[in-house]
Amino acid sequence: MIVGAGAAGMWAAQACARAGASVLLLEKTKRTGTKILASGGTRCNLTTTLDSNKAGRLFGPAGERFLRPALRNLTPQGVVDQFEAWGVPCVTADLEKIFPESQKAKDVRDAMELAARQAGVEIRPNTRVMGIERVLDRYRLTLEEGEPIEALTLMLCSGGQSFPGSGTTGDGYAWLRSLDLKVAPPYPALAPLRSSEAWVHELSGIALQDAEVRLLNSAGKELMRRRRPVMFTHKGLSGPAAMDVSGIVAREQERARFDSRVPHFTLSIDLCADQTWEQLRDELIEASRASGSPRLARALGSRFPRRLVEAVCAQAGVPPNPPIAQVSKAMRHKLVETFKGLCVLVEGTLGFDVAEVTGGGLDLKEVNPRTMEVNRYPGLYVFGELLDVDGPIGGFNFQAAFSTAQLAAQHALSSSGIQ
Ligand SMILES: Cc1cc2nc3c(=O)[nH]c(=O)nc-3n(C[C@H](O)[C@H](O)[C@H](O)COP(=O)(O)OP(=O)(O)OC[C@H]3O[C@@H](n4cnc5c(N)ncnc54)[C@H](O)[C@@H]3O)c2cc1C
Repeated sequence: MIVGAGAAGMWAAQACARAGASVLLLEKTKRTGTKILASGGTRCNLTTTLDSNKAGRLFGPAGERFLRPALRNLTPQGVVDQFEAWGVPCVTADLEKIFPESQKAKDVRDAMELAARQAGVEIRPNTRVMGIERVLDRYRLTLEEGEPIEALTLMLCSGGQSFPGSGTTGDGYAWLRSLDLKVAPPYPALAPLRSSEAWVHELSGIALQDAEVRLLNSAGKELMRRRRPVMFTHKGLSGPAAMDVSGIVAREQERARFDSRVPHFTLSIDLCADQTWEQLRDELIEASRASGSPRLARALGSRFPRRLVEAVCAQAGVPPNPPIAQVSKAMRHKLVETFKGLCVLVEGTLGFDVAEVTGGGLDLKEVNPRTMEVNRYPGLYVFGELLDVDGPIGGFNFQAAFSTAQLAAQHALSSSGIQ
């Protein structure tokens, strides 16, 4: 029995049924893979071009260690091969992403559902699991409607609690706690960042394709660095760079929930990531020698919108977009410093409603990373986003869901003597 017909649940369901197991897949919403349909801007970034080792490193030290057997067993290339075998050709895109060639998330969801149905999986939509008990050698599930059902082998992959409209409202955490399993408090990850700075809101709509961001705590310590696109919004910052660091912001704030002071952060944005400090300085010196003394925005080859240049000037304490010949050495120094580290105060994230994944979840020490079986409960498997593991934007979260699901399926089959 599998709870949750998302990415992980459908992968495990088809893998088990293909090998001959009898599989019942319970899903709370009216359809399968609701989150897959919304993923990647409805294009579904289903995995990455990185190999298992490189992909694993992006889950942080604990996540990498835990995921190593799963990612080696089902690699990103293995996921591509499986989708292509299901008739979903894949293409690579910028930033090491892989999408279905059709650019339709629906094709990914449909292929998984079809594979499950053809293998004989019984899919039961509109079926909400309310609770789980261990009864002798079985697991008994209480449902919102109807009689309880029992199974010898139970797979829990009900996801996290972000994007609740897609069915994931954190139900699984309560079941795990009721079994006396340790659950790390959930927090939103891959969410836009909130900043109350008016000048940031005024830049809303401006996107930088190649920025390097550094997340700093209130003591100025660097917590994470990402080189990815970033975007100013009317609430703060978005885009992959900002969203990738958001989990740390939310996690630290969750940990400090009962403290009197909520921690604040600074996002330092390097607007000229492809240039060193000295190269940018030399570019400005060179431009100041040009005839006609263009204004700063022009002198920078118009590569930034004027609004952004003016904001950088304001943060650097320099007159807005000055004629380059009037920029003194001290002003130039301040400008270079600010272009290489535009500091935005970050007060938090926009929360679970818009977060793409949930951090926290079942403590990894409760689960055998080679099988996804819960150490203290034979026959109980937990995988996908319900685990305390989450990765950055770029297909890594689907890959983790598929790889952990595959390992669980293989082990469940061999323990039941099917394979
Ligand atoms: C907008 C958005 C875009 C995203 N884009 C990408 C992307 O492009 N690439 C990427 O790698 N990741 C992406 N993600 C993240 C990715 O979707 C998740 O990490 C992944 O779906 C996790 O898989 P899962 O099977 O563990 O959980 P889910 O896919 O969330 O599936 C869990 C399922 O369990 C069901 N369920 C919950 N509670 C119950 C219950 N009580 N009873 C029965 N069923 C229940 C839910 O309805 C749901 O169908 C995106 C997420 C969002 C929100």
